Amino acid sequence: MFNEERRLAAPIRWGMVGGGRGSEIGHAHRAGAARDGLFQLVAGAFDLDVERGREFGVNLGVDSARCYANYQAMFEAEPQREDGIQAVSIATPNGTHFAISKAALEAGLHVICEKPLTFTVAESEQLKQLAQQKNRVFAVMYGYSGFPMLHQAREMIKRGDLGEVRIINMQFAHGFHNTAVEEHSPGAKWRMNPEMSGPTYVLGDLGTHTFHMAQMLTGLEVDELCCMRQSFIASRSPLEDNANVMMKFKGGAVGTLWASSVNAGSMHQQKIRVIGEKASIEWWDEQPNQLRYEVQGQPAQVLERGMGYLYGDAPGVCSRIGGGHAEGFFESWANLYHRYALAMDAANRDDTEALAGIWYPSVDDGTQGVRLLECCVESADSHSKWVKFD
Ligand code: NAD
Repeated sequence: MFNEERRLAAPIRWGMVGGGRGSEIGHAHRAGAARDGLFQLVAGAFDLDVERGREFGVNLGVDSARCYANYQAMFEAEPQREDGIQAVSIATPNGTHFAISKAALEAGLHVICEKPLTFTVAESEQLKQLAQQKNRVFAVMYGYSGFPMLHQAREMIKRGDLGEVRIINMQFAHGFHNTAVEEHSPGAKWRMNPEMSGPTYVLGDLGTHTFHMAQMLTGLEVDELCCMRQSFIASRSPLEDNANVMMKFKGGAVGTLWASSVNAGSMHQQKIRVIGEKASIEWWDEQPNQLRYEVQGQPAQVLERGMGYLYGDAPGVCSRIGGGHAEGFFESWANLYHRYALAMDAANRDDTEALAGIWYPSVDDGTQGVRLLECCVESADSHSKWVKFD
């Protein structure tokens, strides 16, 4: 069982860009980072509205002098302090990720950035290079990848419980934007604007999560893909509110990805099903403590988090409370922030061996998400032609 005994010599001094009052995802970052006492929030440029951001930061307990008007001011002032921040999380709209991440790395900070990481693969690769040069951890917030039952699934696939993987079905299809909600919701509005959202809407906003899950579970690499996308709310064009992707993986497996925000009546419907030659597994983010395991010719099983029959010796298959109690979204984020902290600590100590042994969604995973988007756009905008994934 996981507990918060593991301590660093001192918590990592941590700041945030974005995630201000009313933002969708700011609280998840703070809740995840605070859970195990490994990060301490000491600075921020939380909001585009400077006064609102300052008031918000002070209400969170941040010194008002360290609630900055913008990220540039924060990255200039903090490195000059003895107690300056060591890491920053970036929870702003997509169009700002590249510039803020680059500035953070240049200021010598470890970075946790939201997805989709950048607009282009070239930008993501530039960030990777910079992170390497500066010996900094660069994590990408694929927040679902901390769920223990996904790590159980990963381990089952690795140990051959499914046999060779043949098919991967991915979907993330909610119904919250089946009407033009962007007319009155600022959080939806920027998602439909190519200048802020990037070249895609649902593929980047939703599809990148489940695609990352598939890569994390199977390690399979895409060889080529074709994509069809459309805007059922016409004013969203050229960005899609629905997309279907077919993929061929190297080695012969195939897959499909459905990303949608017009799946009327659906809450989330993020699911992944991995089908092997002898068995399948299926995970659903609305029931994250369970993993369906279906062996051909046998009754289906529902594996439960926190039980002794799981591969508890494998990394990530850990629980914070016994089976039968519900762990959820915030625990997944806390599990990831825990890993980020250990990775940052190892990097600070130049312990390359320890660092190499810590799994977390990295800049490479972020880059693969952006590559997915580039290839999907190229395909969809050329009558769904097949496109090489490179
Ligand atoms: P949002 O519009 O709800 O909030 C954005 C926040 O950032 C606001 O507080 C805004 O004032 C602030 N902001 C914008 N530009 C800024 C800047 N230049 N400097 C400082 N603050 C700035 O957006 P959101 O839904 O919270 O999404 C933010 C990011 O998180 C997006 O990239 C999105 O894709 C991602 N996201 C990820 C998940 C996940 O599960 N990992 C879930 C939701 C959103």
